[in-house]
Amino acid sequence: MVISGSCAACRHRRKRCKPNCVFKAYFPADNPQKFADIHKVLGARKVGEFIESLQASHYSQSQCQEAIESLSYESSCRINDPVFGIVSLLCALEADLHKFKNQLDIVNKEIEALQATDAVLPTNQVAAPEA
Ligand SMILES: [Zn+2]
Repeated sequence: MVISGSCAACRHRRKRCKPNCVFKAYFPADNPQKFADIHKVLGARKVGEFIESLQASHYSQSQCQEAIESLSYESSCRINDPVFGIVSLLCALEADLHKFKNQLDIVNKEIEALQATDAVLPTNQVAAPEA
C-alpha cells in the first residue's frame, strides 16, 4: 500500500504523514533508501528525536538538512562496513594524507638540493668588461 503524499519515512513505516511530520522536510518520497539506511542503523524514533533536538536548538533549516545528510552518509557507511563504518573511510583518507605528506617532503628536499646545487654552480652570466 502506497500512501500518496507521504514522506519516505512515513511510507517506510506505513504511517499517515501528517502536516507536522518531522521527517517530511528531510526524507522526500522519491528517495526511500535514504530513510531506510538511517532507520536500519539508528531507528526512526532516534532520528525523529534527533531532528526535534536540532530544531529545538534553533539550528537553521539548512543546518538541519546538512545534519541529516551527514547522518545518512554515516548510516550507509555503517551498512557497507558494519565493523568500522565511516571510520574505515577516515582511516583510508588519513593514510592517503600521510602518503602525500611524505611525497611532498621528498619533493621539497629535492627542490632544496637543486637550489643548493645551483647556488654553487657558476652562473652563465659574463662579467662586464672593466673600463
Ligand atoms: Zn512523514
